[in-house]
Amino acid sequence: MAAPYRLVSRLAVVSGGGSGIGRAVCQRFASEGASVVVADCNKESAYETLALLSHNHRGQEHMALGVDVSLKDSVETLLNNIQSHYFQPPSVCVSAAGITQDGFLLTMEEKDFDKVIQVNLKGTFLLTQAVSKALVAAGVTKGSIITVGSIVGKVGNVGQINYSASKAGVDGLTRTAAKELSRYGIRCNCVLPGFIATPMTEKVPERVMNKITPFILMGRMGKPAEVADVCAFLASDDSRYITGVSIEVAGGLFIG
Ligand code: NAP
Repeated sequence: MAAPYRLVSRLAVVSGGGSGIGRAVCQRFASEGASVVVADCNKESAYETLALLSHNHRGQEHMALGVDVSLKDSVETLLNNIQSHYFQPPSVCVSAAGITQDGFLLTMEEKDFDKVIQVNLKGTFLLTQAVSKALVAAGVTKGSIITVGSIVGKVGNVGQINYSASKAGVDGLTRTAAKELSRYGIRCNCVLPGFIATPMTEKVPERVMNKITPFILMGRMGKPAEVADVCAFLASDDSRYITGVSIEVAGGLFIG
């Protein structure tokens, strides 16, 4: 089925765009007509994504940029580079950059807790703040900010004390951002993926996945494109009356 063209003339920035869910989001947005800025700490993989993006609409222009979302200066440089290239801020922003450093509560090192919070939670804060500041300053009256939480931020997961805390934080951040930004026409929503087949979940041992799969009503892991479909809906006017919500994209996952 051909993708609808709901994002024609939109400029979107996607952090973590070099891999997994972020890459699928970049591909879906481009196929719907958006100009896409692929932003990732891994420049090489960002360029690989760039090479996959379609240009089916006049005026569509994509670019790849390096960024470390956990550093304020790096995020500000990203926004400056986008604005000097396109002469406008991105009206769609997806914070998909994320990491895991798994460990149990009783043994986790402080540095592993801090690192995951810095990338997943602070990184989402910095990008959300920089994009919304730029939109407000430019007088843009329509925007869609999409954050990527996780089902484990809601239900917890053994061995992910840092990750689940970071993702619960992303959920709360998104609801507050929605309350503060609605007056500017900026909607903020969060997607909560379950277990999606990406390089991140390749690290999960097979025996662990075999234990989890029976708790997924749909009986399988999700595909990055299935998360990207929901992001495209949230980016588009089809979701124009939706803000401050979190949408599970988890195949009915219940972690017992
Ligand atoms: P992924 O394939 O590992 O992609 C994450 C991307 O983010 C990678 O390209 C990574 O680069 C980049 N990144 C890491 N730290 C960064 C930083 N400081 N600044 C900029 N980019 C950075 O992971 P994924 O599975 O697609 O995950 C995407 C998002 O979905 C994450 O927020 C993740 O927590 C969330 N999520 C995933 C699942 C799942 O089952 N896969 C479930 C729930 C939520 P490197 O590869 O160089 O580190």
